[in-house]
Amino acid sequence: MGSNNKLRRLLREELERKKSRRKWEDSWRKQGFMFSSQSAEPSIKWFYDREIRIYRMPSINPIVVPYVKEGIEELIREVGLDISVFDCGIHDSVIRQVEMSLENGLVNPKTLANILGNEDYRDPEKGGSPHADVVLVDRGFFNDPTEYYWGNSNFRTGHVIITLQGNRQQYLGYIKNIAKHEANHLLGNPWHHDDPLAQTKGYANVKLCNTLKSAPILSVCEKCFDAIKYFWIGVRERTGVSYFRTSP
Ligand SMILES: [Zn+2]
Ligand SMILES: [Zn+2]
Repeated sequence: MGSNNKLRRLLREELERKKSRRKWEDSWRKQGFMFSSQSAEPSIKWFYDREIRIYRMPSINPIVVPYVKEGIEELIREVGLDISVFDCGIHDSVIRQVEMSLENGLVNPKTLANILGNEDYRDPEKGGSPHADVVLVDRGFFNDPTEYYWGNSNFRTGHVIITLQGNRQQYLGYIKNIAKHEANHLLGNPWHHDDPLAQTKGYANVKLCNTLKSAPILSVCEKCFDAIKYFWIGVRERTGVSYFRTSP
């Protein structure tokens, strides 16, 4: 009798896990579907040409860039997306864009995101082509007096800003963690691993994950990984275009 009850309980738990998992997957499919609407703001169409461009301010050492590129590419590869990342070096227009976003000498991430999201370089009607921008800056955010943040990114604006003020440029390994973390946000997951709204019973309880605010490790847990994967399945459903290398 006892073992029968135990079996029944285990089956019930397994069913519950599957249900929460399906719910989690569905919520991310819906996010991707919703955010990739054709009628959405122009900045959202950044992924149409499957391109992410990395720019740096002149004082950022070029040796930093490959670490940023690898961090972003690692997530793209793991999810199986067909998006390319390019090192575009230093560019006058990006320097100007960063200058335009400064407040008391520090970057206002909202202003910079807005400028990047709406630039002519992304607009085919103005001779541009859709892409996301990753900008490596040599100063912090104006709204971050304790210098806690290393980055700011969003799918809707197709932007990543990484703040490398002071001696931050020397932490190359950690910069790769940060780049991958910000790529999570760029590719559709705005949450962090431990955000109250990002909890589900469908997955094993993992303590460490790249999407924690501190980006302590490189690996992304299955729960956060599925968020991105199902987001892009939703994008495919909405746009009729697959941004996967091979169909998941
Ligand atoms: Zn996670
Ligand atoms: Zn974050």
